[in-house]
Amino acid sequence: MGISKPTLWHIPTISDDIFAKLSEKQTALFQRIEQIAKSHQRVKFASSLAVEDMVITDAIVKSGVAIEVFTLETGKLNPETLALADQLKNTYPTLNLQFFYPDSQSAIHYEQQYGRYAFYNSVELRRRCCFIRKIEPLNRALADADAWLTGQRREQSITRAELPFHEQDQARQIAKYNPIFDWSEQDVWAYILQNNIPYNELYQQGYPSIGCEPCTKPIKADEDIRAGRWWWENRDSKECGLHK
Ligand code: SF4
Repeated sequence: MGISKPTLWHIPTISDDIFAKLSEKQTALFQRIEQIAKSHQRVKFASSLAVEDMVITDAIVKSGVAIEVFTLETGKLNPETLALADQLKNTYPTLNLQFFYPDSQSAIHYEQQYGRYAFYNSVELRRRCCFIRKIEPLNRALADADAWLTGQRREQSITRAELPFHEQDQARQIAKYNPIFDWSEQDVWAYILQNNIPYNELYQQGYPSIGCEPCTKPIKADEDIRAGRWWWENRDSKECGLHK
């Protein structure tokens, strides 16, 4: 008797009810984006190029608001993620997607001192790598902003269950907004499919949540959607520190 392969996570089937309510959600999202842009001098959006972030990028471009979009090029991203970044130039000719890179000396020093794959060895070394490749570049990106946006949603994990629309980023002393905090996974995919927005090919290979290549893997259909991120750690440590 053969062993059956486990079913990988796949892009959800969208119910008619979700499509029917999409225009209401979309209108509310555009209003949120416009309200944020009006309330601050310099707003930036940190896009990881995940589907949530593609929804927000699309809303920013279509609203024509002055919100700058950037991504953290950690040096460890999958080729599929980098290909999507390139594709955005064609999809949104007016979008000036900026890239922030790790400080090269810090990244080299980490690998020389601890090893190329040291992030598998302890939570502490994993967080140190995330600091060098994500948090320090994020701090640099936000140094001249007075507000920033994220694509986080409440449904994504237990660590995000209480996520509000608007919060204060205490560490940076600037405003932080989560404009799709109350969207479901189906809402996000309905927006992507209905608006024909490009998305990372890895979603078709069982990745519902995509980060750096060595720290992300595909998951089975019945697993938590962030189960493939830092899968060797406990659930409650699974944040990179970007949203502390
Ligand atoms: S996700 Fe992994 S590779 Fe990327 S910065 Fe964090 S520890 Fe380093």
